[in-house]
Amino acid sequence: MIEPIYRSTREEREKWIKKARYNIFNLQSRQVYIDLLTDSGTSAMSQLQWSEMMLGDESYAGASSFYKLKKSVKDIFGFDHFLPVHQGRAAENVLFSVLVKKGDIVPGNAHFDTTKGHVEYRQATALDCTIREAYDTNLIHPFKGNVDTEILKSVLEKYTDSIPFIILTLTCNSTGGQPVSMQNIKDVRALADKYSIPLIYDAARFAENAYFIKLREKGYEDKAIPEIVTEMFSYADAMTMSGKKDGIVNMGGFIGFREKELWEKATTFNIMFEGYLTYGGMAGRDMNAMASGLREATDFDYLDTRVRQTEYLANRLLDQRIPVQQPTGGHAVYVDATKFLQKVPREEFIAQTLVIELYLEGGIRSAEIGTLMADRDPQTRENRFPENEYVRLALPRRVYTNNHMDVVATALGNIYNRRNKITSGYRILKEAPIMRHFTIELAPV
Ligand SMILES: *Cc1c(COP(=O)(O)O)cnc(C)c1O
Repeated sequence: MIEPIYRSTREEREKWIKKARYNIFNLQSRQVYIDLLTDSGTSAMSQLQWSEMMLGDESYAGASSFYKLKKSVKDIFGFDHFLPVHQGRAAENVLFSVLVKKGDIVPGNAHFDTTKGHVEYRQATALDCTIREAYDTNLIHPFKGNVDTEILKSVLEKYTDSIPFIILTLTCNSTGGQPVSMQNIKDVRALADKYSIPLIYDAARFAENAYFIKLREKGYEDKAIPEIVTEMFSYADAMTMSGKKDGIVNMGGFIGFREKELWEKATTFNIMFEGYLTYGGMAGRDMNAMASGLREATDFDYLDTRVRQTEYLANRLLDQRIPVQQPTGGHAVYVDATKFLQKVPREEFIAQTLVIELYLEGGIRSAEIGTLMADRDPQTRENRFPENEYVRLALPRRVYTNNHMDVVATALGNIYNRRNKITSGYRILKEAPIMRHFTIELAPV
């Protein structure tokens, strides 16, 4: 599918971003030249997926589309029980309604923003146990999504009775689309068994994680991606899935369960929040498209092309000495904004300042993964300053060419050359109490 894009002038962009209150989410898509805001729901579907759309069964109950998706979930992940939902955060809402209560502790590698939001909304605590190496962007480590098992062990020991589950985010979005190794998954599973605590995956980019295991972990180089995925999920008790990522659809998601008992508890919430059990917020045609997209995502050649495009962009930036999280992750390049804009105080939102500069420079939309997204501490209401301030350049699947990547690299290079002239950032005019970055309003300091 081809869409025209509009090339605006700097004057137009200055006017538009001001009107958007310096929040990139408030821009209209036609005001964006190259859109790297997210890889979520922005990917291009295949001819097979489009033909599946035509075969959608829109029966309220028991649609063939439901069974098609059920078969994909079983074949790929090995789960006998599943519930369709409209997107990943809906999966979190339904599952956490069963499992998370006030005062609970939910440890894992770095939680995704909506995951953390759904934990904190229930007055529970999301505990980040990612390895320290993940926060040093220059340090090369093949699996910067890994859990520090020593830290996890001490958390499990200390809070055993308050921990409803451990959650592994595959790949780990917050540290840069970084993978978790099979060994680390196994070690976490062993700890989960030792303390009799379930292990759940936030599996939005499961296929990219499997690709990195194949490329970077000893013993997996000759295994096929689906085989690696099967092994990864053999260690999980349940999964939440945003189909908008490695499901390669515009909208959709699901929850997978090993045990019928947990599935059964979740069904009530699914009916309340999402829809009946055999569609849960998705049209039949969308379930068909996702049933196919999940399989397509495990194709090695597709994954190889995708991850190499990400690496291509990272290398164009590194050529210009622009600091990025290394090695490159799966779905995005994470620019280290703290190293890039050294004169902007962190209280003025360094990453957001660079996001806005990049938009003004080239009409390129990116995402802030920094202080705005980290939100305020629920108790003290103070800003939480994360270890890293990132500008995330997320690549939609099967959409842009490397020519587009060259434009992005040039625009960032231009900013890098005048970086010392950028000395101030933004202040908050208005913000929501939770997940503020989506709707925040800002003004230049
Ligand atoms: C996108 C995402 C979610 C939430 O999914 P939505 O479909 O956006 O609601 C949860 N976890 C991870 C790791 C994600 O990338």
